[in-house]
Amino acid sequence: MQVPMADPINTEIRLRIMNAQRILVVSHVRPDGDAIGSLLGLGLAIQTSGKLVEMVLDDTVPANLRHLPGYQQVSQRPKDTCDLIVTLDCSDLKRVGKALNGYNVPDVNIDHHPTNLNFGKINLVDPSAVATAEILTRSLPEWDLPITKDVASALLTALVTDTLGFRTSNVTSKVMRMAADLMDVGADLPDIYGKSLIQRSFEATRFWGAGLTQLQREGPVVWSILTTQDRKASGYSGNDDADLINVLSAIKDAMVAIVFVEQSNGNIKVSWRAQPGVDVAQIASSFGGGGHTAAAGAEIQGTLDDVRSRVIGKTRDFLV
Ligand code: AMP
Ligand code: MN
Ligand code: MN
Repeated sequence: MQVPMADPINTEIRLRIMNAQRILVVSHVRPDGDAIGSLLGLGLAIQTSGKLVEMVLDDTVPANLRHLPGYQQVSQRPKDTCDLIVTLDCSDLKRVGKALNGYNVPDVNIDHHPTNLNFGKINLVDPSAVATAEILTRSLPEWDLPITKDVASALLTALVTDTLGFRTSNVTSKVMRMAADLMDVGADLPDIYGKSLIQRSFEATRFWGAGLTQLQREGPVVWSILTTQDRKASGYSGNDDADLINVLSAIKDAMVAIVFVEQSNGNIKVSWRAQPGVDVAQIASSFGGGGHTAAAGAEIQGTLDDVRSRVIGKTRDFLV
């Protein structure tokens, strides 16, 4: 793979990894393919050098990603002390949930969200990257870390999922070449694509059904809700929207799609998706969340009715 020119941040990260013996890598709650793919991609790559790596997430690995080599190593809390902490795909420290409770400020923050708060001691944040894994794929050779078949499978999973199968507007020929390079190392694109993006459980599909029957439109906004009761009735075990938001975002003529998901902690998880020209990250940030121009989220305190009316009101105000 092509090795890019070293910049000072990359050189510093290479030295930090080289000098550390026990490394803790962490990603965000309700993990997506980029969270898991980046965690395993970096974690497995560092492990090849014989160092101790803990890969930690406050939630468990979603079922559609439990085929990736190394996923069984992911735990919900660190077991040991460490001399380097790296966060991946987290725009702020709240995103790691309780995974880092009692630990120091992260040493290295690697992310691609424009809303990133640069909370690390070293911040490698590139909003032009389609996924955090794009930054890793570029950087691993610079850090003298190998892209093995297992690392490549994790990284390609992240590229495929964060681009919704290479169809988001930020996909370039450079990204496609990067994906091809990962395939050359042994990552199986059709297998990864099918398992991480297309196949879903019967329960997840029933959960979608509940969301689709509650679909509403208010002017340029389409929205739906998923209650705790819907989750129980469908038998879906995740605390996310089972990707319903990406179904809603396919609705023609809607400028913005929103899904509200009741959480077991009483909060409401809100997801926004927007057509080009609308920046939903700004709306999400005003509710304490963040994300990208076209895809953003926030976890908001309040009842479903209250959060729904505040969020739809603000989103509609934003669109006029
Ligand atoms: P989601 O709607 O959860 O699929 O997330 C869409 C985008 O917004 C992703 O890039 C997430 O990382 C980001 N995001 C989701 N929830 C939050 C949050 N509570 N705080 C910051 N960013 C978020
Ligand atoms: Mn993510
Ligand atoms: Mn991402």
